[in-house]
Amino acid sequence: MPRARRKTRPTKDTTPSCPTCGSENVVPIFWGYPAPQSMQPLLDAVQRGEVVLGGCCGDAKGNRPPWYCKACKSRW
Ligand SMILES: [Zn+2]
Repeated sequence: MPRARRKTRPTKDTTPSCPTCGSENVVPIFWGYPAPQSMQPLLDAVQRGEVVLGGCCGDAKGNRPPWYCKACKSRW
């Protein structure tokens, strides 16, 4: 089902707002390990705060939520 897109930030329109606090300070979580050729770009993105590393195996319940809110530190 289509949803309204943000016209002001066309490159960010796939990033949702945090359902917990409503912040847009949300980044994708990378789960697992990248291919060797993808490692450096990924680390660069982590340095820029554009993505966070989730680890290899998901959270305590084995879930791998795709989004992380830097404002309230929730994952969903
Ligand atoms: Zn939040």
